[in-house]
Amino acid sequence: MEISELYEIFKQHPVVTTDSRDCPAGSLFFALKGASFNGNKFAAAALEKGCAYAVVDEAEYAVEGDDRFILVDDCLHTLQQLARYHRRALGTPIIGITGTNGKTTTKELTAAVLLQKYNVLYTEGNFNNDIGVPKTLLRLNAEHDIAVVEMGASHPGDIKTLVEIVEPDYALITNVGRAHLQGFGSFEGVIKTKGELYDFVRSAAAGENDAYAIREVKRPRCVFIDNDNPHLNGIATGLNLVRYGINAADNLYVTATDVKSEPMLSFTWKAEGKAAHHVESQLIGAYNITNMLAAIAIGTYFGVEAERIDAALTNYAPSNNRSQFEQTADNRLIVDAYNANPTSMAAALNNFEAINTDHKMAIIGDMKELGSVSHDEHQRIVDQLSHMTLEEVWLVGSEFEHTTTPATFRKFENVAGVKEAIASEKPHDRYILIKGSNGTRLFELPELL
Ligand code: ATP
Ligand code: MG
Repeated sequence: MEISELYEIFKQHPVVTTDSRDCPAGSLFFALKGASFNGNKFAAAALEKGCAYAVVDEAEYAVEGDDRFILVDDCLHTLQQLARYHRRALGTPIIGITGTNGKTTTKELTAAVLLQKYNVLYTEGNFNNDIGVPKTLLRLNAEHDIAVVEMGASHPGDIKTLVEIVEPDYALITNVGRAHLQGFGSFEGVIKTKGELYDFVRSAAAGENDAYAIREVKRPRCVFIDNDNPHLNGIATGLNLVRYGINAADNLYVTATDVKSEPMLSFTWKAEGKAAHHVESQLIGAYNITNMLAAIAIGTYFGVEAERIDAALTNYAPSNNRSQFEQTADNRLIVDAYNANPTSMAAALNNFEAINTDHKMAIIGDMKELGSVSHDEHQRIVDQLSHMTLEEVWLVGSEFEHTTTPATFRKFENVAGVKEAIASEKPHDRYILIKGSNGTRLFELPELL
């Protein structure tokens, strides 16, 4: 079936599901495949549960003579093509966000700011891959003024695939750092892959450089860029750049001063030629300043009033173990147990070091997916930890197992061992940083501390 034909069906049935346990009446079921499942097997059940049509890619699962089955070559590819078709049909301006760290935070902050003025569609949670991105686009409707779409990558070419579905008009790479090195091969591989977002905006702008009219605001295509990041500046040639940064420079659109993280981030920001504004945020970590500035730059660019930007940023509270502060009966905790890679780990440690207090303790879990450089990267973190003023350092996981540490550091095979130690030693009156990849399960610790 042609995509245009499928699109006619989608217009009548604009809710898409890929999960046969969740089949809203009249929705379109796409039979995706994973490492351990084949959605085709659930197509008939999806129809029974209320889906209007089931898109399948294995003929044996399409019941003969039942035109509710739509047979295609590849369901995932069809889902992606349909998403692009829909995106083009609506022509909604889209801001695409990628980067090593801070994508979700920046996406949430940006959406919060834009929501002050616009009807915004934005990526739900962390649905930033080749399935989550098309599903996000398929939630677009004619009422949306603008969309903010998070795009993730763990292999070369991943962003190219996603930008060709999203076709973003505005782009933002939060930063480039050392993560998923297993998939990317090297840091250069990371930069090149994230740069695929710039490549798309550059080629689109060359073809057609008109400004969008979003309500009364007309804004040319552009890339929002952290001016303090040399890696990004290095690949940003030939683009219409809107710059934000902390370090003084002539060409900054938005800048910040007085950046403090004690432990909540506060700062004063100023847009080109306008008055200064102070924000007391609910985010932990000085590194969040770039995420904040990105959202401010985007909001300002699209005409959101400064006071409204302040309100959005002040009210935003993170969830899902991303840099959360918790005061328990016994301890103060910074919980950052949702993900970890060398760049975000180093940033979290720097931030922790800057907090001026006694009785500091770090519980640090393995950073996953680093491939052949894993040992060196873990050793580098141990070296950073050994130069900090910490009363205790607990390392968790098999990667840290093989590092060389000062005698005072303690190593645990897994989170179970840490739990036992907490149960018997009952740490109290500590200021504790908890950070590691999700797989190390350090998110199980806060309730025990
Ligand atoms: P994912 O790849 O899982 O989608 P993400 O890029 O969406 O991650 P966030 O979920 O926003 O990132 O943040 C995850 C963690 O990354 C935070 O808890 C924090 O430790 C770290 N982080 C966030 N922003 C930055 C930044 N600008 N620089 C360094 N580290 C950051
Ligand atoms: Mg994310």
